[in-house]
Amino acid sequence: MKLRDLEIRLERLDGFSRPSAKLEQYATPATLAARLLYDACMRGDIEGKRVLDPGTGTGILAIGASLLGAADVVAVEIDPDAVSIAEQNRDDTDADVRYIVSDVQRPGLSGELGRFDTAVMNPPFGAQNVHADRPFLDLALATADVTYGIFNAGSRGFIEGYIRDRGTVTDAIGGKCSIRRTFAFHRKERLEIDVEILRIVRIS
Ligand code: SAH
Repeated sequence: MKLRDLEIRLERLDGFSRPSAKLEQYATPATLAARLLYDACMRGDIEGKRVLDPGTGTGILAIGASLLGAADVVAVEIDPDAVSIAEQNRDDTDADVRYIVSDVQRPGLSGELGRFDTAVMNPPFGAQNVHADRPFLDLALATADVTYGIFNAGSRGFIEGYIRDRGTVTDAIGGKCSIRRTFAFHRKERLEIDVEILRIVRIS
């Protein structure tokens, strides 16, 4: 599938109906999601692989991974309403994704999930709760050999410090995330956020 075809298919997915600010529910724009997934695919980290999407929201990354030929995709999300939308999105695209409604921090979750080749994620950036991305990194590093994550631009150093003995950042791709006015405290119609996609390889 071409990058543009993936973008078009992901653009059709529904987003959050009533997004929660506390959970930092921002759906990844299709162009950014497609870029992350396509890059991961080119590096051999998607096709035929077991893929985990922690904090899947309405499912864009998990569904995209399935469309690009992942063998098995599991997605974890704390909000059951988001999972209902994600299930509908999956069914509308003929993707194959298994959803688990859970907090990523639930003890025992990583053992239940088993091993993955790749994690793809757009975790909360920590705008509402400081370090909100950490439990996502913990789960990804506990279960997957390679992780692709979307983070606030400039986070690389902090993330490298946090994952120090557990993973190495091998690549960083800059990007922009344009989000529509989602919450009352957003003053502008659109917000342009500089982000970076980091590829992290677990230290085994
Ligand atoms: N990955 C999606 C959603 C990004 S928004 C996308 O790329 O579009 C972050 C998501 O993490 C939200 O859906 C939010 O509900 C979820 N989330 C926040 N805290 C969580 C937690 N502790 N456990 C599981 N999911 C969580």
